[in-house]
Amino acid sequence: MPSPAEAFGVASIGTPHTPAATRVMLLGSGELGKEVLIALQRLGVETIAVDRYPNAPGHQVAHHARTIAMSDPQALRTLIEAERPLLVVPEIEAIATPVLQELEAQGKVRVIPTARAARLTMDREGIRRLAAETLGLPTSPYRFCDSLARLQQAIDEGIGYPCIVKPVMSSSGKGQSRVDAPGDVARAWECALAGGRVSHGRVIVEGFVDFDYEITLLTVRALEAGEVRTHFCAPIGHLQVDGDYVESWQPHPMSPAALARSQEIARTITDDLGGQGVYGVELFVRGDEVWFSEVSPRPHDTGLVTMVTQWQSEFELHARAILGLPVSTALRSPGASAVVYGGIDAVGVAFEGVAQALEEPGTELRLFGKPESHRTRRMGVALAFDRDIDAARARARRAAAKVRVREA
Ligand code: AMP
Repeated sequence: MPSPAEAFGVASIGTPHTPAATRVMLLGSGELGKEVLIALQRLGVETIAVDRYPNAPGHQVAHHARTIAMSDPQALRTLIEAERPLLVVPEIEAIATPVLQELEAQGKVRVIPTARAARLTMDREGIRRLAAETLGLPTSPYRFCDSLARLQQAIDEGIGYPCIVKPVMSSSGKGQSRVDAPGDVARAWECALAGGRVSHGRVIVEGFVDFDYEITLLTVRALEAGEVRTHFCAPIGHLQVDGDYVESWQPHPMSPAALARSQEIARTITDDLGGQGVYGVELFVRGDEVWFSEVSPRPHDTGLVTMVTQWQSEFELHARAILGLPVSTALRSPGASAVVYGGIDAVGVAFEGVAQALEEPGTELRLFGKPESHRTRRMGVALAFDRDIDAARARARRAAAKVRVREA
C-alpha cells in the first residue's frame, strides 16, 4: 500500500464481484457520493456505499450498501477492516477521522485525498488555522469562542460589526447567522448551539467580507507522467441563501489578476493537504483581491453544474484522479444549476412537473432519491447549458421551478 505522500495509480482494474475486483468505499452516500459512485461504476470499479441511514442516494447505485454511524470509531474500524477496500473516499465531514489516520498509518488502507486532509477539514478550526496561521493565506479576521461572553469580547475587541457566527462543526449554513449589532449576538450564539454538529459550544466568529462575488475553484490533483500535478477547472460562481447554495454557474467571469491569485491560493492549500482527487476551494473576490474561505477535500455541491459544463464532471474527475488516471478539466459549454428543495416534510415523496421541467432543450434534472423530504432539504437539481451563463441560469431556474414535491 503506497503512502498518501506517494503518487498512486492502479495498474489494472479488476472485475467486480471477483477476487481481483478494484474495490472503493465511499464514506457518505448523498447526492455527491452517488455521482462519484456512478463514475467509478463506469470504470468497472466495485463500489461500497456507506451512510448513516438506509437507502441513501448512493446506496441505490452501489454494488454494496452499508449503514453505520461513521462518527463511531469502532463501527468505522470494524467495517473498513472487514471490507478492506483499496481506497476509502470520505464524502462527508462527520467521520471518526482518527480511525482513518490510524488505518492509513498502519498501511491498511489509502484514504482520499489523505487522512490528514479529512481530519483538518472536518471542522472549521483545523482548516482555518492551517490556511491563515500556517500558510499565511488571506482570510476574514476570525476568533474561536466557547461562550457567549467570549463571543461578545471577540467582537468588541476587533472583529466588529457586521460579522458572521458559525458553529465550528457544521456545513450548509446550519447554525450560521449574521450579526449586525450588539442586540443580535445572543441570538447568533443560540442559533450556533442549536445548529452545530457533534461538538456543541464552540463557534467561529468571522469579520464580514464585503465581496463582489464568491467562487468555487475546483482543483484537481491528478497523476500525469508519473507525478501528481494540479489542474484547475473554470471558476464556478454561486448564490448562497442562509449559507446554503441555491444556484451555481460556470464559467464565472474574472479579471486575469483575480483568477491568477485564486489559483495561487488554491494551489497553496491543496499542495499542503496533498494526495489525489478533487478539492473545492471556496474564495471571496473583490476587484483583484481574493480571500480564502473554505476547502472541501472532495467534489463540491456547487460543482454539480459541471455535469453539463465540462467534458468530465467533477465526479468523473474525482474518480479518475483517485485511481491515478489522466484527467481533463476542459469546459464544454457555459451552464448553470438550480436546486430543487423539498418544500415539505414528508417520507417517500413524489415529484411532479418533471416532463415540463425537461421540455426545454439543454435542460437536465437529477432527482437524488432521498427517502425523506424536509422543507429546506436539497432533493434534486436542475441543470442547463446555453450560449452564456445568464441564459443558462434563467433556464435552470425555470426548470427547477417546474418541479413540485408532493406527498405520495
Ligand atoms: P460557509 O458555510 O462558511 O461556506 O458559509 C456559507 C456562505 O455564507 C458563504 O458561501 C458566504 O456566502 C457567506 N459567508 C460566510 N462567511 C462569510 C464572511 N466572513 N463574510 C461574508 N460572507 C460570508
